[in-house]
Amino acid sequence: MDIGRLIAPVNRLDGVGPGRAERLAHLLGRESAAETRIFDLLNHMPTSVADRRTMTAVADAPERGIATFTVRITHHEASRAPKGPVRAFGEDETGELAIVFFRGGFKWIVGAYPVGAWVRVSGETTWRDGRPQMIHPDASAVVEGPEAPSGVGFGLEPQYPMTQGLTPGVLSGIIRHALERIGDLPEWLDAALLKREGWPGFAEAYARVHHPAEVADVLPASPARRRLAYDELLASQLALAIVRDRERNRRGRERHWNPATISALEASLPFALTPSQRQAISEIAEDLAAEHRMIRLVQGDVGSGKTMVAMIAAAMAAGDGGQTAIMAPTDLVARQHYETLARYLEPAGIPVRLLTGRVSEAERENAMDALESGEAMVAVGTHALFQSRVTFRDLALVVVDEQHRFGVSQRMALSQKGPTSDLLVMTATPIPRTLVLASYGDMDVSRLTDKPAGRQPIETRAVADDRLSQIIDRLSSAVERGEKAYWVCPLVEPDEESELTSAITRHKTLTQRLGPIVGLVHGKTPVSEREDIMAAFKDGALSVLVATTVVEVGVDVPDATIMVIENAERFGLSQLHQLRGRVGRGSKPSTCLLLYRSPLGAVARQRLDTMRATNDGFRIAEDDLRLRGEGELLGTRQSGAPQFRLADLERDADLLTMATADAHLMVATDRDLAGERGRALKLLLTLYERRRAIDRLRSG
Ligand code: ADP
Ligand code: MG
Repeated sequence: MDIGRLIAPVNRLDGVGPGRAERLAHLLGRESAAETRIFDLLNHMPTSVADRRTMTAVADAPERGIATFTVRITHHEASRAPKGPVRAFGEDETGELAIVFFRGGFKWIVGAYPVGAWVRVSGETTWRDGRPQMIHPDASAVVEGPEAPSGVGFGLEPQYPMTQGLTPGVLSGIIRHALERIGDLPEWLDAALLKREGWPGFAEAYARVHHPAEVADVLPASPARRRLAYDELLASQLALAIVRDRERNRRGRERHWNPATISALEASLPFALTPSQRQAISEIAEDLAAEHRMIRLVQGDVGSGKTMVAMIAAAMAAGDGGQTAIMAPTDLVARQHYETLARYLEPAGIPVRLLTGRVSEAERENAMDALESGEAMVAVGTHALFQSRVTFRDLALVVVDEQHRFGVSQRMALSQKGPTSDLLVMTATPIPRTLVLASYGDMDVSRLTDKPAGRQPIETRAVADDRLSQIIDRLSSAVERGEKAYWVCPLVEPDEESELTSAITRHKTLTQRLGPIVGLVHGKTPVSEREDIMAAFKDGALSVLVATTVVEVGVDVPDATIMVIENAERFGLSQLHQLRGRVGRGSKPSTCLLLYRSPLGAVARQRLDTMRATNDGFRIAEDDLRLRGEGELLGTRQSGAPQFRLADLERDADLLTMATADAHLMVATDRDLAGERGRALKLLLTLYERRRAIDRLRSG
């Protein structure tokens, strides 16, 4: 059971020196050569197959396609130019083929392709001067005659995605060496499953994909490819199931509260809760009251009122002295949550503290003391919350807002501060079902499907940016009527290399036209300054806020009614939707203007069409998944969301469901993976680098 040979770096393979290892790292999407493993190479799947088995008549040679011919050499021709090509001409009954060489001297070519000999050549042909030509055949051999059987080099040849500095021949050779290293591994898939699906074993599956016997072997629907995709999905689902099992089995605690306190809190709100908010709150209440740990995702489109749900959950936890930590993605959002929560919770006798990197040292000390002593019941903050110096007297509930900005490990660090704490994750990214399953395993999910009553729909329009001047005129009159607007640009500073508009440039033009009522915030604005500017926008001292996507997440200025997004064609759908969600939060109708630079590409046009057609976050997420693929949807890099190499969540949705069930059954029957299949599955987890799950297995 040795997989060391597979997880070793690629430079252990024959023929892979430092240069090639770098190129492979690049090709396989790894950070460095040292991190590029032999197993990654095996997972480099062919995209098609060149079939060199069947002979084509010269007259039927394709224009830009791969074909194989058997021709009799008639003559040679050297170009008069010093470094010009040498041509060997051959013919069959149907026509003449030119075989062109830019390397190799005349003598060598005449020797390898002697006049009168039958040669078999395979490669890409193009038509030139009324005959097909082939530049440097991929395979060639002298044969007995036109009917000779196909020999070595004339079989099926997988075609791989390539990178500069590697030739197909070299890559195939390296992959062949990688295959030899698989050796004998125990089977980690269930025998009954293999039989039912007709799937090959692990080694056999890779052999079939990289040395196909049929064209169909390399297609995603082939038994070999499906088996390998299943391996990948199972590794992911098993890892999630193990972590979840460990989290859940650290037992929770039953929480108790006085229902009258909660009703009073609800009654103190200036609005009635929506049916979805009520539903989510009752699901959370059930979890809190039960002994198991809660692990729940609250999904709600922007503006659906997630903060209120978290607030009421915090009030419930406070019923018998349990504290709540609410982690927000930015200082700005943390402060905003703090203000909202303090406004309603403090009158109800639940003290709230703010803890971000920005509060003064004295304030921070004070907040930390209050949390440690249990005097403060709710802490709202950012990363500062999970610093080791912060301790809670009795942390009952951890709320993570806008989860995709946090790594899972940060979430865990916070959970550690309360050994029996419940977990609530709130996300505005309306993640489709398959993605929830793939990213979070089977977390319980509450969905906020309706928006607070009285919300006005947002009118969305797409406008070419050559009408900028008119748009600024219209903005000017809207501002005179007392409206507030966001103006989002893709860049911070002007960049000569780019045609995109920068926030700094736009801030200048708008200030010239509208006067000193235009603010500017972007990623490089110091946080303290950023908050002052946001506050001025909220209070009305500023009417227009020029920004980069820093306003994307969680900012709440209910009376802002206009959102202008410049170079809208450059933003992804989810991002456009998040930005648009910053308006339409109050009682007045809102407008979203998507300014684009013509001409629009097909995908960009589709995105803008979707934005105009719907304000339904779930539909937008589905379209986004379709247009971009699952990798980017969660902003993969920050999220640690799975990025699958072999599986495709849309195509292999059935496999994902099977793998989830398989993983649960495994954890339920052999939670330490100590049995025979369990031990084999540990190898699978190692192959797929599921380190966190492996660590959890070790720590019991
Ligand atoms: P999100 O789900 O985007 O985090 P928020 O919690 O920020 O949404 O809520 C958006 C706005 O809606 C806030 O101003 C909030 O006070 C308000 N709100 C929340 N729930 C309701 C409700 N049931 N009725 C009316 N307004 C509500
Ligand atoms: Mg929010």
